[in-house]
Amino acid sequence: MSGGAKLYRFEVSHPDYGTVIVTSIGPDSATNEAAKVWGVPWREVAGYCRVTKLGTAARPRCRRCHSEYGQPGDPKAYCPACLDILDRRRREADRYAAENRGRDRERRRREREE
Ligand SMILES: [Zn+2]
Repeated sequence: MSGGAKLYRFEVSHPDYGTVIVTSIGPDSATNEAAKVWGVPWREVAGYCRVTKLGTAARPRCRRCHSEYGQPGDPKAYCPACLDILDRRRREADRYAAENRGRDRERRRREREE
């Protein structure tokens, strides 16, 4: 698939599995995406799917700051700026935890020696 393929949103309905909205390049691959969501083999459901095109896929919005980022159809997560912030926070928390573990070990060692 070329990187410039236009993505659309499709509503895919199945009598047993209900309705999902997926992002895809066309109706056929939309049923494939829906089968993945339902966790069933595509061949079992493809013939029973009803596909409705909803429109052009929107770019995802960041879960944290709600700004748009990336490409249409990218999974919804965090924008690069928020990823940086979250990453830095995680590293700080890891360092803090590591320091505390070190202190605990040191204290236990001293207690044993007393
Ligand atoms: Zn963000």
